[in-house]
Amino acid sequence: MSEKNLTRKRLEKAVESIENLNEGQTEFLQAVREVYGSLAPVLEENPECFDQKVLERISEPERQIIFRVPWQDDNGEVHINRGFRVEFNSALGPYKGGLRFHPSVNLSIIKFLGFEQIFKNALTGKPIGGGKGGADFNPRGRSDDEIMRFCQSFMTELYRHLGENRDIPAGDIGVGTREIGYLFGQYKRIANQYESGMITGKDPEWGGTLVRNEATGYGLAYFVREMLAVQDETLEGKTVVVSGSGNVATYAIEKVEELNGRVVACSDSDGYVYDSSGIDLELVKQIKQVERGRIRVYAERKEGAEFHDEGSIWSITCDVALPCATQNELQADDAKALVENGCMVVAEGANMPASIEAIDILHEAGVAFGPGKAANAGGVAVSALEMHQNASRDALTFDETDRRLQEIMKQIHATCISTARQYGTPGNYIHGANIAGFKKVANSVLALGVI
Ligand code: NDP
Repeated sequence: MSEKNLTRKRLEKAVESIENLNEGQTEFLQAVREVYGSLAPVLEENPECFDQKVLERISEPERQIIFRVPWQDDNGEVHINRGFRVEFNSALGPYKGGLRFHPSVNLSIIKFLGFEQIFKNALTGKPIGGGKGGADFNPRGRSDDEIMRFCQSFMTELYRHLGENRDIPAGDIGVGTREIGYLFGQYKRIANQYESGMITGKDPEWGGTLVRNEATGYGLAYFVREMLAVQDETLEGKTVVVSGSGNVATYAIEKVEELNGRVVACSDSDGYVYDSSGIDLELVKQIKQVERGRIRVYAERKEGAEFHDEGSIWSITCDVALPCATQNELQADDAKALVENGCMVVAEGANMPASIEAIDILHEAGVAFGPGKAANAGGVAVSALEMHQNASRDALTFDETDRRLQEIMKQIHATCISTARQYGTPGNYIHGANIAGFKKVANSVLALGVI
């Protein structure tokens, strides 16, 4: 059997054993197939990864914590939610990754996010391992007091697993600066110490870093700028569609507009708004951040804008598409529509928003595709800068942090490009990101022995 075929066979066998071990964990297995599907060329060079069971080791979390989160609503009714923290891999540093509060949260979703996080964190070049957590709690419609009580109950259990050298959470869907405040406050109270570096995404008033709030969205726009530069293009005058209207979407829109792109649509889980004159970001911020309202209100307040509660945001003609809401929100039909309408670049602000079939369609049509673990790594990269500042008890300026973010996104882009070229698939950002991330993690896993 040729070396190539032997590698493919051993890879298939490893993936099969991971599938058997994690039956029914659809999202997690999708993420495993997406990453491991890129690795044949690097594994052919490094067969010891098979002998040392590196694939199986990386896909099995070091620790999975599942816990009860009891809390009382404003009427005194008791609710029980399920909390999760998956401490996936600490070969490169302490576990690092956000917390998601959303009713869809389950072990498979947290594991897919944690698995992706391992390679994303490796790509940033910072000394951080991978983890993720959250709860199946629905914050929508909950009062501020209810959110606080939930966060306090969640942290009352989780605090024993956290620490600046152990596991450092941050935000994700449903967890922003307000929630980070309540979580940090409860940790501080229980641990009886002001350990700023145990969580990131804090308000700059009490230990956070400037630019963290904007970092994922800004970083995404910087990554897209690099992708367009490869095609001798810029964002200037490009029509852009952004899904979502949360943290990532908001600041992606802000930076794209600053770079003179024209964003014409955004969304939430009720539907999308189309505004051919360009999305008015101040209005979006007013509705989503100040009023904590629904995006449909945008169309009621802005003349000429339309709200659609049916159909797909990806049917809108655009040059650049930025899915920034949630996993599997861009399916094969959406990819076909984007291709037909002449889209040049798709880059993931969310984690795994495009299905494997959608990505294949985009690749076949020659659309440049930036995977989340590279394109949305700006958030965790600035979180690492926040940890750095907390450790040195210092604070960088907005401009300096933004400059470092731009440098990091440029470096991640360059790594994707050079790795994809080196392994025979030039222009394939998925292969570039997966191989580069894997190599770094696998080398460290091997160096640290069978642990
Ligand atoms: P937010 O909670 O701030 O915003 C999420 C947005 O996505 C909201 O507009 C929400 O609408 C929408 N959304 C959520 N679920 C669905 C759904 N099932 N269908 C349609 N729309 C949905 O989260 P973030 O902006 O922080 O996160 C968005 C994505 O980016 C996630 O995939 C996250 O993992 C990823 N990410 C976030 C980072 C960060 O720094 N925050 C870093 C890297 C990646 P609604 O209000 O209706 O629920």
